[in-house]
Amino acid sequence: MPKPVLLAVDDEPAVLSAVERDLRARYGKDYRILGAESGEVALETVRQLVGRGEPLALLLVDQRMPRMSGVEFLAAALPLAAAAGKVLLTAYADTDAAIRAINQVGLDHYLMKPWDPPEEKLYPVLDDLLDEWRRDVRLPFEGIRVVGALWSPDSHTVKDFLARHQIPYLWMDVDHDEQARGLAPRSPAGTMAVPTVLFPDGTSLVSPSTAVLAEKMGLQRHAARDYYDMAIVGAGPAGLAAAVYGSSEGMRCVMLERQAPGGQAGRSPKIENYLGFPSGISGGDLAQRAVAQARRFGTELLSAQEAVAVEARDPYRIVRLKDGTQVTAGAVLLACGATFRVLKMPGAADLTGRGVYYGSAHTEAAYYDGRPVFVIGGANSAAQGALFLARHASKVTVLVRGSRPTAASYLVAAMESDERIEILGNTDLVEVRGQDGVESIVVRNSLSGEQQILPGAALFVFIGVRPESDFVAGLVLRDEKGYVLTGPDLLRNGKPPPGWTLGRDPLMLESSQPGVFAAGDIRYGTSHRVSSATGEGAAAVAIIRQYLKAL
Ligand SMILES: Cc1cc2nc3c(=O)[nH]c(=O)nc-3n(C[C@H](O)[C@H](O)[C@H](O)COP(=O)(O)OP(=O)(O)OC[C@H]3O[C@@H](n4cnc5c(N)ncnc54)[C@H](O)[C@@H]3O)c2cc1C
Repeated sequence: MPKPVLLAVDDEPAVLSAVERDLRARYGKDYRILGAESGEVALETVRQLVGRGEPLALLLVDQRMPRMSGVEFLAAALPLAAAAGKVLLTAYADTDAAIRAINQVGLDHYLMKPWDPPEEKLYPVLDDLLDEWRRDVRLPFEGIRVVGALWSPDSHTVKDFLARHQIPYLWMDVDHDEQARGLAPRSPAGTMAVPTVLFPDGTSLVSPSTAVLAEKMGLQRHAARDYYDMAIVGAGPAGLAAAVYGSSEGMRCVMLERQAPGGQAGRSPKIENYLGFPSGISGGDLAQRAVAQARRFGTELLSAQEAVAVEARDPYRIVRLKDGTQVTAGAVLLACGATFRVLKMPGAADLTGRGVYYGSAHTEAAYYDGRPVFVIGGANSAAQGALFLARHASKVTVLVRGSRPTAASYLVAAMESDERIEILGNTDLVEVRGQDGVESIVVRNSLSGEQQILPGAALFVFIGVRPESDFVAGLVLRDEKGYVLTGPDLLRNGKPPPGWTLGRDPLMLESSQPGVFAAGDIRYGTSHRVSSATGEGAAAVAIIRQYLKAL
């Protein structure tokens, strides 16, 4: 396979050769570095590369060029090179143009000239972009193959697990691919065994559980130590932040995750309101960076492990896991977040994983290319899901109970200006219909009472969340919705809750069980944002250190 191309575009010969030199120094081994002295020449180069099927990984373009500016070139190249990373070289005065280009042409970054030293100002940005490109791009395939079907919920579970662990795989659909049908083993009754996961070492697994898949992928599943300072349940933003700050400060940390790192945020195709990422960052990318950071500092992440109980045996806190093992720590942080509420109308349960998906817009969107789909819900997560799906589906119909979506105004505006998205206000979902997958839904207008049947191939559900706290119901106090009460929220008339025996009040983020803390979406009073979850996770570290010191 030819090396992927990095294309630099600048009309000033001296600047162009400096960019090419810096690119070659760092990336020359793995990429082919090309230069073009104008937007027109660059566009022709892009056309030729695409025509020859050569992968284009990066466009690094000067904004100020005569005839065709950098942004104009990127707009013209966009249909040919949508997947390539796009970086604009700007002078200070061009930053407005660059910020506009973030939405206009999907600009990933803008860099101020000069970019010296490149080790600080150029390479970190390009390293990230090229890593991201390599993860997302479909190069000729030599890795894991998943032979499955859209009507098989287990196929969805396997895809979701791999995608959310950022493990590349090739999807082979038995309904559309002769080769896939040949690869799927048959049961004695002649039915195809899906999903079958084929590995490059020649082995395969039929309908593997996530635990088996995790073992096969070499992910750590069991604690290496007998004792930790902090056991974190859940690897969403709150847990990941606690892991990074705890282990960076020398605490022995272990983190358990039953599904995939990133939690709900990992399902977000683009988080636009997280500090420091002006053009947004995908939840998967954010999670992957945080996992790498936490591991670097020494946190153990136990994959496909579910906590089923927490016990207090002073001075220890013990987390019991579903597979019968346990983890012992001085303190436990509940960072289990929340999960989507389940649809109760006829058809929804039967078709879950076979066209009805909870939050999984990112994993499933590509399989509904050119087909109409539905999104139910009107908050930020639903809007993000709809916008992502609209890149693939022929039409996305968004069903909202109120007259308008409640998502942030920038997301509502983006949906309203996307011609593939239709928003149906005052709409209730009545039924989901289909045999092997979703074929249509029945909706009712809550004002007129009128019902209609809408044809579509999938329904993506984003209808509010419920905290994941049932497994600690007997241990800690919760509100009537299941959110864990902490710190001052536990006090009644200034007094700690019944059963509290310590001579101090519960610490901030501490639950009614001393030594068991909560952060993020599981906690009463949180604001259901990535930033508040990470903030609380980080804050919990300082409070837990204080608790452990006093033991
Ligand atoms: C699609 C989507 C888009 C979103 N977009 C944005 C956005 O753009 N901006 C924003 O600020 N917020 C956004 N949010 C909200 C944000 O993602 C959440 O507020 C945030 O993820 C909460 O973090 P958390 O760590 O508290 O919990 P979660 O993210 O829910 O993570 C909890 C983790 O704990 C695991 N877990 C639960 N129970 C157990 C158990 N018993 N054992 C082991 N593991 C367990 C779960 O599998 C999960 O991985 C979005 C949410 C969704 C669903």
